Parts: sequence; C-alpha cells; structure tokens
Amino acid sequence: MQLRQSQVTGDSPLCPVDPKHLVHGHGTYARCGEDDVLKPTELIPRWLCLPCGHTISVLPDHMLPYRPVSVPRMEAHFDALANDVPEPAATEKQKGCLKRAWHRFIQRLVAFAAVLGQIMQFDQSNAKLIWVQLRQLGNLKRILHLLAEPFKTSLLHNYLCLLAWPANTT
Ligand SMILES: [Zn+2]
Repeated sequence: MQLRQSQVTGDSPLCPVDPKHLVHGHGTYARCGEDDVLKPTELIPRWLCLPCGHTISVLPDHMLPYRPVSVPRMEAHFDALANDVPEPAATEKQKGCLKRAWHRFIQRLVAFAAVLGQIMQFDQSNAKLIWVQLRQLGNLKRILHLLAEPFKTSLLHNYLCLLAWPANTT
C-alpha cells in the first residue's frame, strides 16, 4: 500500500493490520518527475511488513500518486482556475498533465461529496467552488493528508494502493 510521508510519525510506517508487526526497510523504487520541484528521478522508500508479507511505500508530501507534476504546481494551477487568475508558467507537458488533473477532479465531485459530506456541504455542480472550499481546509498537502487519513482516498482517484491489505487470518 502507499502512505503519504505526513501519515508516518516514526522512523518507519506502521503495519495497517497490526501496528506491532515488524516492518523493515525494503529498498526504493524510482519515479519520474516532470516538474522543477521534482527531481528527474525521485526515489520512493519502500517498507516490508514481515508477518504480512506486504510492502508499504511512503510518498513524499510534494508528490502526487501516479502524476508527474508536483503538489505545489497542481495547487497553483487549481487555485488559478478556481479564482480566474493567471497561472504560473508551465511547459507544454506540464500543461497537459495539469489539464488532465483538473478534468479528473471534476469527475470526482460526487465522490468528494460522499466522503467529505461530514465536514462540508458541496454544490456538486461547481468544481471551482468546491476547490475554494477544499482550500479552506489548508494547502493541497493538507487536503491530500485529510483524504488519505482517515478516508483512504486521494484527490484525483480512489487508488486501491491507498487501502490496507486484508488481515492474514491463517
Ligand atoms: Zn503486518
């Protein structure tokens, strides 16, 4: 599964099934960045829960799951769209990625209403307003943390990797 760095309080993540399980460092994997905030290759640390036999990767807070643009860049893009102000300069590749990200966000409004309905009421037809409302909770780093913990979801997709693996009952 995947956690965000801000969800990890100690030196290593806890097993989601049993926090007493021994979790060992399990190398890293490389992810490409398409952003001045990201390195061309970012190494994501991975951990292995020994009793469960499952890995936990810990995504740095400036990174989005599966998207090559950084959290600050996407936040600036969404802020600019929602408030109808000019946005920071971006390469064509970044622009394409940001455009797809906003499109995904618009498709997620019903899901947000279901998940965050306890915190705030949404007008599901107004993506810009929803973004402004979400920003009242904090910056994008904070929003992603809130969606991951406790809701186990993310801004642009309900990634299966954010869910804990099932407990081993044998
Ligand atoms: Zn475990």
